[in-house]
Amino acid sequence: MSYVTRFAPSPTGPLHLGHAYSAILAHDKARAAHGRFLLRFEDTDLERSKPEYVAQTIDDLTWLGLTWDEEPLFQSEHLTVYNQYLEDLSARGLTYPCKCSRKDIAAALAAPQEGVPHHLYPQTCKSRALTERGPKDALRLHMDRACDAIEGQNLWFDELGPSHKGRYSLDRTALLRDVGDIVVGRKDIDTAAYFMASAIDDVRQGITDVVRGEDLFEFTQVQVLLLHLLGFQAPKYDHHTLIRDENGKRLAKRDDARALSKFRAEGASPNDIRQLVGLS
Ligand code: GLU
Repeated sequence: MSYVTRFAPSPTGPLHLGHAYSAILAHDKARAAHGRFLLRFEDTDLERSKPEYVAQTIDDLTWLGLTWDEEPLFQSEHLTVYNQYLEDLSARGLTYPCKCSRKDIAAALAAPQEGVPHHLYPQTCKSRALTERGPKDALRLHMDRACDAIEGQNLWFDELGPSHKGRYSLDRTALLRDVGDIVVGRKDIDTAAYFMASAIDDVRQGITDVVRGEDLFEFTQVQVLLLHLLGFQAPKYDHHTLIRDENGKRLAKRDDARALSKFRAEGASPNDIRQLVGLS
């Protein structure tokens, strides 16, 4: 299968050097492999995603000299698709409705229940039936049942990135201990949580290798679990190290100082950016 990868920004702010690194790296890997490079806007956060950031992103990537091989995909145009996958999980009894606010969860965690790890959702709503779902309820994955559903299947994924390289098996103990009953259906809009939509689109777009920052590595096992539950095969993952500022802090969109547009305004060339991120 030929190599297909993607850059999948959330258009909630300007691109910074860290995004430039991720996009250039993915693009160059695809070109070196004579494969394909795709662009996907993860704009399911309808409040924070802004058309001006989409336009700025396209302008920045074009200025960097990157080209993509299909029209960009906008997740906001496919919310019903993610919802169908969510319904598939629900129809199999793998979700339950949750009405807990952050405050409720904090209060429940202050008086931990036996057997529930204290950093995970305290399972307050676990016995609620789907028919009890209110319009403002989230949907949580029933992790025990999800693990039952893949029992005995020996599922794994390959990680190619430098920090975590190896083959990882999905492990019931780790999923129950480290992930727990995560939210898979959002309460604000009627669609899947962003990491689920992202994993589904990786499959729908035929991505063979997910190149992205290693801050997202922790999502991988649950994304692979969801893909298997939905009958898909997971791609390979290739998490890269992060570009940090001089204090070793990870760059974030709110750190406007590192915005690519500022470097551009100060006269930097695309090659200067490649050099700055160590990719020339
Ligand atoms: N949309 C995510 C972000 O901007 C990236 C998700 C991914 O690459 O899987 O951080």
